[in-house]
Amino acid sequence: MRASLLDYTQKELVELIKPKFRVKQIYGWLYHNYADNYDDMKNIPKALKEELAEKYLVNPMKIIKKEESSDGTIKYLLELQDGKTVEAVWLKMKDAKYDAKGEVIQEARYTICVSTQVGCKVGCTFCLTAKGGFTRDLTAGEIVAQVVNLKRDNNHKHNRMINIVYMGMGEPLDNLDNLAKAIEIFKEDEGLCIGGKRQTVSTSGLSNKIDQLGAMDLGVHIAISLHAVDDELRTELIPMNKAHNINSIIEAVKRFPIDTRKRVMFEYLVIKDKNDDIGSAKKLVKLLTDIKAKVNLIYFNPYPGTPYNRPEVKDMINFQEYLVNHGLLCTIRDSKGIDISAACGQLKEQENNK
Ligand code: SAH
Ligand code: SF4
Repeated sequence: MRASLLDYTQKELVELIKPKFRVKQIYGWLYHNYADNYDDMKNIPKALKEELAEKYLVNPMKIIKKEESSDGTIKYLLELQDGKTVEAVWLKMKDAKYDAKGEVIQEARYTICVSTQVGCKVGCTFCLTAKGGFTRDLTAGEIVAQVVNLKRDNNHKHNRMINIVYMGMGEPLDNLDNLAKAIEIFKEDEGLCIGGKRQTVSTSGLSNKIDQLGAMDLGVHIAISLHAVDDELRTELIPMNKAHNINSIIEAVKRFPIDTRKRVMFEYLVIKDKNDDIGSAKKLVKLLTDIKAKVNLIYFNPYPGTPYNRPEVKDMINFQEYLVNHGLLCTIRDSKGIDISAACGQLKEQENNK
């Protein structure tokens, strides 16, 4: 596999490309103009482009499928150099606001959900990505390229109003080195300039890796896919809970450096008759007492062959009410893109079954 220019920080490119001022120009082409190939880079000499083209791709992936939902969510299937595919999602979080003259006073906000691996080793029993097993880690450039490709496709010219969530396919902390590198590249001042505060790493709870990520001090948020309040059910849903049990995760979260004004997000996938009862809500409140937490309840999104069911709306609301009445911040994830097979791995699976 060939490396791409998106695999490198600006500092690294300065080591690889001479003279230095060309790096600044190339960085502009990559992250401000979303260049797709060397031909796009108008002010770069042909000889330098040819030399670079021998070693590095500009864009290591291409969009092969796109599904747009009525709420503005767009789900993408991207093909990598080796023919493997991953998903990324463009989510519109807030509409733009205009004044009486039609001038924009506040721009629309978007969140881009990216994948970190082809497949996943964790093997959660409710997750479609897990069904295909694990194929390989994504490189830093392949993580970065998802954002660049989605921004290009949506003609999103500047870098404000973008958040990144590592909630696509794969377990981000199982690919920690490439994840950390991608986080750094996103943060670059002259690149996309998406700060740590605007990046959220979602993990199924590899507690030792939560500590390692914390030690890197990248300033990112974490979201914990908790999904269950006792180890027996959690191990059924997430088999590696045997090695990283609930207690070890809670302890690791307490050690994780977070902005004191912020909260750690706990994701709780609600499955009918499994974890949607008030007894579970009660345990959840107890479990999170010492943590500045916020809970995001997610409706289980069924797919053919799954033994699990989507919870009832009333149970979801009762669960939320219990948490809120006991002092926990709690939202129900609005099922953005539900009409376009939103849960992770579902677009890819459709493509495989054709
Ligand atoms: N591996 C990481 C991040 C990617 S999974 C993690 O597990 O946190 C992204 C999210 O998709 C997780 O919160 C997971 O719980 C959710 N998810 C997976 N399968 C789902 C399904 N069938 N319905 C709803 N959400 C699902
Ligand atoms: Fe992997 Fe996350 Fe799916 Fe679990 S939910 S199998 S950790 S991608």
